[in-house]
Amino acid sequence: MPPRFSTVLFDLDGTVVDTVALIRESHRHAVRTVLGVEMSDEELTANVGRPLIDQMRAFSEEHAEALLVEQRAWNHAHTAELIAGYPGMDGLLGRLHEAGCRVGIVTSKSRPTVQLAFDALPDIARHLDDVVGLEDSATHKPGPEPVQVALANLGATPEDACYVGDAPFDIAAGNAAGVTTIGVTWGFFDQAALDTEHPDLVAHDIPALEAMLLGAGE
Ligand SMILES: [Mg+2]
Repeated sequence: MPPRFSTVLFDLDGTVVDTVALIRESHRHAVRTVLGVEMSDEELTANVGRPLIDQMRAFSEEHAEALLVEQRAWNHAHTAELIAGYPGMDGLLGRLHEAGCRVGIVTSKSRPTVQLAFDALPDIARHLDDVVGLEDSATHKPGPEPVQVALANLGATPEDACYVGDAPFDIAAGNAAGVTTIGVTWGFFDQAALDTEHPDLVAHDIPALEAMLLGAGE
């Protein structure tokens, strides 16, 4: 069976790599150190998926730069220890590639931070045809531009592409770019949060996502 989409774009954090603990604890360190406050897990991760500086501005407009410096330093120092793969994701990416799909990442992360994740999880990077990061577009999720840049890089049209992500910002970006949007619930956000942006499909585990992309088990 041919793949349903010739181009499959993925968000990175909370979708392809499990950075939930890493990002939450990096944010906790930054707000504790710079602002002297404790926040709930939900407050800490409410804006994950948007560029890091925007997440820090949401904590404190005035201290956003200092928060960014603290967050980055702690995050980079703890990436190897706290990042994890999602079991089955490496296999799915490989089977997409074998089926002839072009596979790309569209993330709000900066390129050096993306590279840290790939260094920690080298099996992920070998399946990718393109990576769009923070530096590759003027505007960012929830706007459509990062997805549009990936489509252009891969010679794809919105009609034969999908964007898979764990955040409402991913779904908004994909919908604005005109691609099929698939929300996943194993990352930072639950289905109720994803539903606010009306994804075309929602997958609760990797086999269900594979069935949507490749028809496996259908
Ligand atoms: Mg994400």
